[in-house]
Amino acid sequence: MSDHCHGSCSSQTPVADAGYRRVLVLALLINAAMFVIEVVAGSAAGSKALLADALDFMGDAANYAISLYVLDRSLVWRARASLLKGLTMAGFGVWVLLVTVTGLMRGDVPEAATMGAVGLLALAANVGVALMLFRHRSGDSNRESVWICSRNDAIGNVAVVLAAIAVWFSGSHWPDVLVALVMATLALTGAARILRSASGELRAQR
Ligand SMILES: [Zn+2]
Repeated sequence: MSDHCHGSCSSQTPVADAGYRRVLVLALLINAAMFVIEVVAGSAAGSKALLADALDFMGDAANYAISLYVLDRSLVWRARASLLKGLTMAGFGVWVLLVTVTGLMRGDVPEAATMGAVGLLALAANVGVALMLFRHRSGDSNRESVWICSRNDAIGNVAVVLAAIAVWFSGSHWPDVLVALVMATLALTGAARILRSASGELRAQR
């Protein structure tokens, strides 16, 4: 979720193998679709945890896009793409925090069934992408990082599902709010780290 995902997740080395490239395109599409699904469902169901989980899909989709389309270019382009990703994630992260705090003041209780169902779908998406990538890894060096970020993403998805169950039983919005705050904060720290290293790289290029 933080740097294990949005800093080093997905391949950061040039992708030559056509089969692996196809897998990365598929991973990009799945992550982008899950981002949209979680934003729409999160807004409709009033679940801030789903919105915060969407941040992770956004960051991962950006990583796959960078691996596929930017990495063949120069280091400067990669740093610029990372900077754009960091800024977008930071902006979206701040929005999620604002929505969470204003929802907290209104005391809106999210719709637990939608929250749980989309959380499970997100879990399936992350596990599916992890299995797909794992089978297509040629070198060994990246296996561990893929495993670690998939695991952390799965932990986030499980937290959303558990929060949905807790909301269902308690009728309280607190489980949703707590998970949202933790996940949005992790995503924002990740974005800050990306921004720092990308701007450092750009400075070093001058
Ligand atoms: Zn991730």
